Amino acid sequence: MTGWTRRKLGIGVAALGLAPGPARAQAKPRVVVIGGGIGGATAAKYLAMGDALDVTLVEPKSHYATCVFSNLYLAGLWSLESLTYGYEALTRRYGVAIVQDAAVAIDPDIKRVRLAGGASLSYERLVVSPGIAFRFGEIDGYDDGATGSMPHAWSAGSQTKLLRARLEAMEDGGVFVIVTPPAPFRCPPGPYERASLAAYYFKQFKPRSKIIILDAQDSFFQQEVFRDGWDRHYPGMIEWLPARSTGGVTAVEFPAGFVRTARETVRASVANVIPRQVAGEVAHIAGLVDARGWCPVDPQTFESKLRPGIHVVGDAALAGDMPKSAFCANVQAKACASAIRTALTGARLSRLHLLSTFYTFLAGNDAMADAAVFAPANGMIKLQDAFQTQPGEQPETRRRNAKEALGWYDAFTRDVFG
Ligand SMILES: Cc1cc2nc3c(=O)[nH]c(=O)nc-3n(C[C@H](O)[C@H](O)[C@H](O)COP(=O)(O)OP(=O)(O)OC[C@H]3O[C@@H](n4cnc5c(N)ncnc54)[C@H](O)[C@@H]3O)c2cc1C
Repeated sequence: MTGWTRRKLGIGVAALGLAPGPARAQAKPRVVVIGGGIGGATAAKYLAMGDALDVTLVEPKSHYATCVFSNLYLAGLWSLESLTYGYEALTRRYGVAIVQDAAVAIDPDIKRVRLAGGASLSYERLVVSPGIAFRFGEIDGYDDGATGSMPHAWSAGSQTKLLRARLEAMEDGGVFVIVTPPAPFRCPPGPYERASLAAYYFKQFKPRSKIIILDAQDSFFQQEVFRDGWDRHYPGMIEWLPARSTGGVTAVEFPAGFVRTARETVRASVANVIPRQVAGEVAHIAGLVDARGWCPVDPQTFESKLRPGIHVVGDAALAGDMPKSAFCANVQAKACASAIRTALTGARLSRLHLLSTFYTFLAGNDAMADAAVFAPANGMIKLQDAFQTQPGEQPETRRRNAKEALGWYDAFTRDVFG
């Protein structure tokens, strides 16, 4: 008998579960996580804790830059490096296997994920957290190629860097135009925080500049608090135009910098066009989305309502009243990880509170702090209670919020990546 044959036989016996003796290692149930952003990295870490599951995280990028605090980077208050995280700690501390590749197909019948590089991974449970994809084509002239001229900067990294470079190069007296998308979109206060922090930057370095927000909506999150802050910090600098007054943005033209609405044309020195959003592409390929373009899920386990055995967390999920935020992606991922551990190992289910905390900057030392509590009800996730920043609060309260936000970011990113 050759060595090759002996080895082969050995594998065959083990695979049949026939290998004798007490030393035989029990294979751990395998969970694959697609997407190493906030939801996916949190899910991978919390699934791997306790060493009862074999966890593989699939992510094409070697490093992830958080959108959270990326508006501070645009204002020159934060570096891109301090927004950027690797996956070493997930492997070293929790044993998560990292596969640097993109998932291109999922076969739920045989429970396999196919990767762009040609390999495939089998799973017992799958978690999908691919974030958002952009739906181009609604604004004439704005397609994937146009993002190099009019960046969306709605996923962090090269787009954010490009927008910062454009703002730095803009002349004093220039016009910065922000085009917001129709709801629902990632980070409801994000465009208005961006306007606030761009104004904070302009006030110091280009005080004759203007910001115009061409909104796809007629009202926005914490509108009164934002307007109050803009009046106090940047009087006359930010103009907000709701959809009812413009008829909505219809077309863009570059390099001329024209942004056309149904009623007028604005000439932008720098344009930030944030397109309509849907669940990340792989969720569409896998049949996880409904007609709205997002993934319906069970409100407790985050298991897909369309494909059993596959869970969806983060921005891609339809999570009722929960906003598309990093904090929500993180808490959903923990609830989902607990449900999967219970299903695969019989571990006790941790009943998690679906909480959300949100710090939003109006200026370098003025931040709002909003919090909300959600709970499953009638198959959906419903808002139970909320604490909201009020207009006209004491400057000291806002300064304290801004300081707390820095501590929150540090603790939060350690919870996700560390
Ligand atoms: C300007 C801005 C400011 C924000 N500020 C805040 C804030 O202050 N607080 C807050 O709570 N939230 C904030 N958010 C929202 C927050 O960034 C998102 O809600 C959060 O990132 C969602 O996490 P996710 O895991 O769903 O998606 P992401 O974090 O986007 O992660 C998705 C990951 O999946 C990967 N991926 C995609 N497709 C595949 C595939 N086929 N195979 C493998 N991997 C794939 C991507 O490369 C990416 O790494 C902000 C957002 C923006 C735009």
